[in-house]
Amino acid sequence: MIVVLKNNAPKNKQEQLVEWLKQMGLGVHVFTGEFQTVVGLIGDTSGVDMELIKSLDIVDSVKRISEPFKCCSRRFHPDDSVIDAGGVKIGGGHFAMIAGPCSVESEEQIVYVAKAVKAAGANLLRGGAFKPRTSPYDFQGLKAEGLELLKIARRETGLPIVTEIMSAGDLDLFRDVDVLQVGARNMQNFDLLKALGQQPKPVLLKRGLANTLRELLMSAEYIMASGNENVILCERGIRTYSDYMRNTLDLSAVPMLHELSHLPVVVDPSHATGIARMVEPMALAAAACGCDGLLIEVHSDPEHALSDGAQSLKPEQYAPLVKKVLAVRETVRG
Ligand code: PEP
Ligand code: MN
Repeated sequence: MIVVLKNNAPKNKQEQLVEWLKQMGLGVHVFTGEFQTVVGLIGDTSGVDMELIKSLDIVDSVKRISEPFKCCSRRFHPDDSVIDAGGVKIGGGHFAMIAGPCSVESEEQIVYVAKAVKAAGANLLRGGAFKPRTSPYDFQGLKAEGLELLKIARRETGLPIVTEIMSAGDLDLFRDVDVLQVGARNMQNFDLLKALGQQPKPVLLKRGLANTLRELLMSAEYIMASGNENVILCERGIRTYSDYMRNTLDLSAVPMLHELSHLPVVVDPSHATGIARMVEPMALAAAACGCDGLLIEVHSDPEHALSDGAQSLKPEQYAPLVKKVLAVRETVRG
C-alpha cells in the first residue's frame, strides 16, 4: 500500500503518521521526492483502514499496490535511484561504463586492461576472481589473490572495482570491493541475497538465465528488504531459441524495468551474445533504449583468455565503442 502525502504536509504530522503506521507492525518506507512524498507500507496491510488514512488532512491519496515487490517498485520511489559505486554515480542520468576481463589472470593483465579501459572512457573496472564455470575442470578464478590484484589495478587507475561473489561465506574477503556482482546463476541464491542485504556495498544483480523480470525484481527485493537499497539490475541475455548466439539479449527489459522500478538498469552485451563482433551493435542498441550503463568484457589478448575470450573485445575495439555509445546517448536525449 502507498500513501501519497499532500505537498504542504507539515513535517511533524508526517512523523506522527509514520509512527502510527509503525505501531501497526508495518514496515514504513518514506520517499521524499522533489514534488511528492510517498509513504510505502510493507507487510500485512489487510487490517489497515484505508478510509481512515485517506481522511487525514495531510493525505492526498491511498492506493493498494498489486506487485509483490515493494522496495524496488517505482510506486514506492517515483524518482530514479542514483547508486554510488565507489564514488561513481549510476542511474538518474549517470552512466556506467563497466569494463574489464572476464577473469583476473595476473597483475600484468589486470593493470594493463584497467589502464586501457580507463583511457577509453570506462569509469568502473570489472574482473572476475571467483568464477562460476559450467565445467569444474575449467579455470575457477584466482579467488582471494584475484581480489588483491583488482585492488592493485584500482590503486593504479582510480577506477572502482566490480567483482562477483558466489558465496556469503566469502563476504569478509570482499570488504574492500566497491560493487559486488551476483552472477546469473546465483540470482535466486536467496541466502546470498539476504547476506548482501545486510551489508552496505552496492550489488550488481544479474538476471538469471531463465528468469522473468518479476523474478529479477523479487531477487532485488530480497536484498533491499534485508536493508541494502543499493541495487543495480543487469540484463545479460536469457535462454530462448538462440542457436548462433550464447543467449538472447532482452532489450525490452530495459524500458519495462524502468517502468516497474526506480533501480538503475545496466546491460551486458558480452554474455548476452558470446561473440565479440556482436557486442558493439548490441551496446549501441542498449544505449538507445535508455540503459544506465554497459558491462563489457575487454581483454588484452582475447585468443588466450582463460575464460570468455570469444566475446571479449580488445582495448582498441572498446575505445571506439565508448565514443559511439556516448554519441547514441546524446542523440536519444534529443
Ligand atoms: C561474468 O560476468 O563473467 C559471468 C559469469 O556472467 P553471468 O553470470 O551473466 O553468466
Ligand atoms: Mn565472463
